[in-house]
Amino acid sequence: MSEPLRVAVVGSGPAGFYASDALLRSDDPPVAVDLLDRLPTPWGLVRFGVAPDHENIKAVSRAFEKTAARPGFRFFGNVDVGRVVSHAELLERYGAVVYTVGAQTDRHLGIPGEDLPGSWPATAFVAWYNGHPDFQGLSFDLSGERAVVVGNGNVAIDCARMLALTAAELAPTDTVAAAERAIIDSGIREIVMLGRRGPVQAAFTPPELQELGELAGADVVVDPHDLELDPASADALEHDRERARRNVELLREFAGRPPKGLPRRIVLRFLVSPVGIVGSGRVEGVELVRNELVSERGRLAARPTGERETIPCGLVLRSVGYLGVELPGVPFDEEAGVMPNEDGRVSGAERTYCAGWIKRGPSGVIGTNKKDAVETVEALLADARAGKLGAPSSADLAGLLDERGVLFVEYEGWQAIDAAERSMGEPLGRPRVKVTGWDELLATGRSVQSSS
Ligand code: NAP
Repeated sequence: MSEPLRVAVVGSGPAGFYASDALLRSDDPPVAVDLLDRLPTPWGLVRFGVAPDHENIKAVSRAFEKTAARPGFRFFGNVDVGRVVSHAELLERYGAVVYTVGAQTDRHLGIPGEDLPGSWPATAFVAWYNGHPDFQGLSFDLSGERAVVVGNGNVAIDCARMLALTAAELAPTDTVAAAERAIIDSGIREIVMLGRRGPVQAAFTPPELQELGELAGADVVVDPHDLELDPASADALEHDRERARRNVELLREFAGRPPKGLPRRIVLRFLVSPVGIVGSGRVEGVELVRNELVSERGRLAARPTGERETIPCGLVLRSVGYLGVELPGVPFDEEAGVMPNEDGRVSGAERTYCAGWIKRGPSGVIGTNKKDAVETVEALLADARAGKLGAPSSADLAGLLDERGVLFVEYEGWQAIDAAERSMGEPLGRPRVKVTGWDELLATGRSVQSSS
């Protein structure tokens, strides 16, 4: 059999695993995949994004484990592409490079006070409670009585729900210890979620919204006035297939519920935008403006009215979407925050492809990345069959990494970390207790190294 085409996939979240899987299934040509990640552990947002109380969503990692067991698969963790190895050096070693690096930073609100202590991007809060090794030094002050979550997407819902979980709800999860303690001991009694548009335009999905109404320690509160729809929203709802219709049904049900008097409340507000975060030296409140909806380029957009109010709070989590980050040497569309591409072929770059959020922007559920990655892999394989990829000249990546003293972690190393975490979790009735320090991750991950 001919030598397999060697492909580097950069970023080991869902898009990276789905791309690897589609590549490894190919027999025309046969393909070997090296899956690289900046972190010593794989799975991307399945490990560091999906909320700890959503263990069922994390179960997708079993499919990733099957991909990793396919012949021709190798994992290189702790390899920061663009820093320890360049795009050009990957092209020397692989027939093609597929970027599946996701959207690694957060969108900004661009309002005064956004950077006051106590105002955080939701991405940092999520990475903290999920044990991301770069975020464990953070300290979230949860002593104030009210927290405000800006945004109406599923990440905002995750943040609001996590802040409201009880000790019993947190106990069977893999929330890191410091975050669990902080949430249990927190002084927060009210969590206000702010949607800049109306309930029909909310980005969150019905199952996630429904969960807010099923929490053991928090009432969910919706003002019925916020559910009075303008004609354009009512019309949009008429034509909605599922999401908005179900969301509005749930919100109406929440609005009609008498509060049970639980220790915390999650308040869902609509048609309000923060215009400033206020406080002397740290967050003390959020200034809001009331919005109305206007038709703008085929969509209903929020337009501020003159009506303002300030709500006191001690914590602000800004959850208004993720943003892709440029990778040195690879074309990047600054405005859209993605690699410019056609069907996953990165425009203006030879033998370079992309899939997932860095290809289409931060949208969709985990499964959306499968179809997206398959499309990219089909383009790549078509190029290979058309003779456009050529044979790489240089030797194996492992040699270069060793030369540079990069302590890369192989798949067996990840399996050692995984086994250690699971065995720490077992006696506690948790799926795992995450290893969160770089030194410990590398020590465990390198303890079974086979290549060097
Ligand atoms: P998202 O779904 O795009 O939601 C972003 C929210 O921020 C929208 O409500 C948006 O409102 C709002 N927003 C944007 N700019 C704003 C501004 N300047 N001021 C006020 N609000 C603003 O993003 P996400 O929540 O980060 O989630 C990313 C993706 O991951 C989504 O596809 C999501 O479904 C998925 N996810 C899924 C789950 C799950 O399945 N359980 C969990 C987490 C994440 P507009 O609509 O008005 O722009």
